[in-house]
Amino acid sequence: MAKIHVLDKHTAELIAAGEVVERPSSVVKELTENAIDAGATAVTVTIERGGISMIQIADNGSGIEAESIPTAFLRHATSKIQSEDDLENIHTLGFRGEALASIASVARVELLTKTEQDEYAYCYRISGGEEEGIEPGARPQGTTITVRDLFYNTPARMKFLKKDASEGNYVSDVVSQLALSHPEISFKFVREGKVQFQTPGDGKLLSAAYAVLSRDFAKDLLEVGHVHGNYQISGLVTPPKSGRASRSMQHFFINGRFVKNRTMMAALEAAYKGVLMQGRFPGCVLTVTMPPQLVDVNVHPAKTEVRFAREKEVFDAVYSAVKSVLITPESSSKALAFE
Ligand code: ADP
Ligand code: MG
Repeated sequence: MAKIHVLDKHTAELIAAGEVVERPSSVVKELTENAIDAGATAVTVTIERGGISMIQIADNGSGIEAESIPTAFLRHATSKIQSEDDLENIHTLGFRGEALASIASVARVELLTKTEQDEYAYCYRISGGEEEGIEPGARPQGTTITVRDLFYNTPARMKFLKKDASEGNYVSDVVSQLALSHPEISFKFVREGKVQFQTPGDGKLLSAAYAVLSRDFAKDLLEVGHVHGNYQISGLVTPPKSGRASRSMQHFFINGRFVKNRTMMAALEAAYKGVLMQGRFPGCVLTVTMPPQLVDVNVHPAKTEVRFAREKEVFDAVYSAVKSVLITPESSSKALAFE
């Protein structure tokens, strides 16, 4: 065996980046979450060649002050948490301080940003982890980050990407999830030169659902609004008898974060037991709002898993919320009209 040694910085960085950046959709997720955390009310996501050749996220959030820009690209650099204690109480989507560093190590990145206080916007470039400089630029308050040639310096990762259209579909899923979990933000998604959807940002889940999901799906959803102890459940579910052939229309969110979660899925389907035929599935856009101390979001940087401190409470909360709209006799006439 070779002698044990510490890896050089470049190799260590590429390994770390691999945890966060798997494909274009992971870049879009991280950068769009940054825009949301920055308090943006409007976010535009643009991709070319499924995001492989270009990804651009433009927001009207806080911006980054000039002197902090290079720091933002260092690994473990974040403005969102201070110490161990804060890990128990996360109120932002990001907190690891890894995304910008990871993305910049495997792509060519340009960041144009302006805060309210700074007189100018600043444009900062970094490629393959190497800083290329900073210069004054022009832009209203907010941030535009452009990522080109993802994995240009890591051919081994490039090989695992799928066709442009498939990568574009993954990106579309991610932007859809973020738009559905934040109806108060107007999201515009531009794919290969065409506007795929734009949400109004009026705070109404139903209008976001209309923009993002098929009209056919959105048109007769039932509204869920329920408080169960520490848990508040809100969202939209498909009416009884309109089951779907797959689970692809089940969207779950916890504290504004898209999650894949067996407990929530099982609770949803249990509530439909007896009203749906075998082999048919309900669809939903369901958000659980709960104390951050009761959910561990620090499972894996790129995965959508969470752990609950009290699994059964979550099940009961989702089950009773959904059940209560399904058993209301006039539930079919309560289908929401969209004007
Ligand atoms: P994290 O989101 O976990 O803090 P990132 O690497 O994604 O880590 O971002 C590092 C820091 O850069 C953030 O904490 C934030 O202060 C700043 N930042 C990144 N993107 C934006 C943005 N779009 N608007 C304002 N600040 C941003
Ligand atoms: Mg982030």
